Amino acid sequence: MGMNPPATSSPAPVNMETMAQNDNPAIAPLPVKKVGIIGAGQMGNGIAHVVALAGYDVAINDLERVHFDTAIETIKGNMGRQVARGTISDSDMEGALGRISFAENFATFAEYDLVVEAATEDEQLKRQIFTELCPHMRPGAMLASNTSSISITRLASVTDRPENFIGMHFMNPVPLMELVELIRGIATDEKTYSAAQAFVGTLNKTVAVSEDFPAFIVNRILLPMINEAVYTLYEGVGNVEAIDKALRLGANHPMGPLELADFIGLDTCLSVMQVLYEGLADTKYRPCPLLVKYVEAGWLGRKTQRGFYDYRGDVPVPTR
Ligand code: NAD
Repeated sequence: MGMNPPATSSPAPVNMETMAQNDNPAIAPLPVKKVGIIGAGQMGNGIAHVVALAGYDVAINDLERVHFDTAIETIKGNMGRQVARGTISDSDMEGALGRISFAENFATFAEYDLVVEAATEDEQLKRQIFTELCPHMRPGAMLASNTSSISITRLASVTDRPENFIGMHFMNPVPLMELVELIRGIATDEKTYSAAQAFVGTLNKTVAVSEDFPAFIVNRILLPMINEAVYTLYEGVGNVEAIDKALRLGANHPMGPLELADFIGLDTCLSVMQVLYEGLADTKYRPCPLLVKYVEAGWLGRKTQRGFYDYRGDVPVPTR
């Protein structure tokens, strides 16, 4: 899987002057030099990793400083492995780490050209974030959400700039995965789409375009498969080990579906299924009651050390 190119200098700004002049220049997105990230969880730290390596200045906001400190430790560990593999140099790593800072509050983002929201998958929470963020942002600053499933049009509607708002859905783990889904809301303008596409290109990643329907493309297909794997477990068709082995060896998937669910986070999986179930009004998307039970128990997968596997020992042990 292609890794990010080492950053030797500041990135070439995405120059909107060279792009199609087909809508109001007053709202043309700013050239992207400084990128804000909201949420320092597994996606926020991965996005910060690739964006900083590509040469951008990055500030990350989270509810508490401790989440930022944990994210930096994770980024150091992950970049350290890239250095060991020879995909980046020591100085690339040092440079990138030096470009990442903590944003104590949204006022920090007043000087930023793009903010990518990567907070918990909860529509009310994301709406509140964008409502509070907007008054701090300059005209033309672009807003993006890394949501796995929530309507981009609805999130954009709470902002003062729906034309500069876009879905920018990175895949987990961000430093390794090549794809970014871009999702236009109903109001997203062409210049914003082009600027987002150019930005993703500077991260050495590839875009797939999705329309704004629940869970977009990747998760519309992936999450029902994971949910079905949980039903298969719930109904006793197989245990955790058998289900994961079956899909790994029988369908050549690199990870079994339950292992993958733990990797994504069971709370995120459940939220995506709820968005599909409610958004498409079809019982085939009903979240499995066993998935609900794991989330209610706080067994969210790797991030809480327990999910379909228990990660507290040296080797993961199936919990069913
Ligand atoms: P996570 O639980 O690892 O991290 C979420 C972070 O958001 C936490 O650090 C939390 O403290 C922070 N947060 C919550 N409320 C906040 C607020 N009001 N302000 C600032 N920070 C806040 O979750 P994640 O897996 O990183 O997912 C984040 C987003 O990315 C979700 O929208 C999710 O659907 C999406 N996503 C996840 C994956 C995946 O595989 N996990 C893949 C693609 C996209």
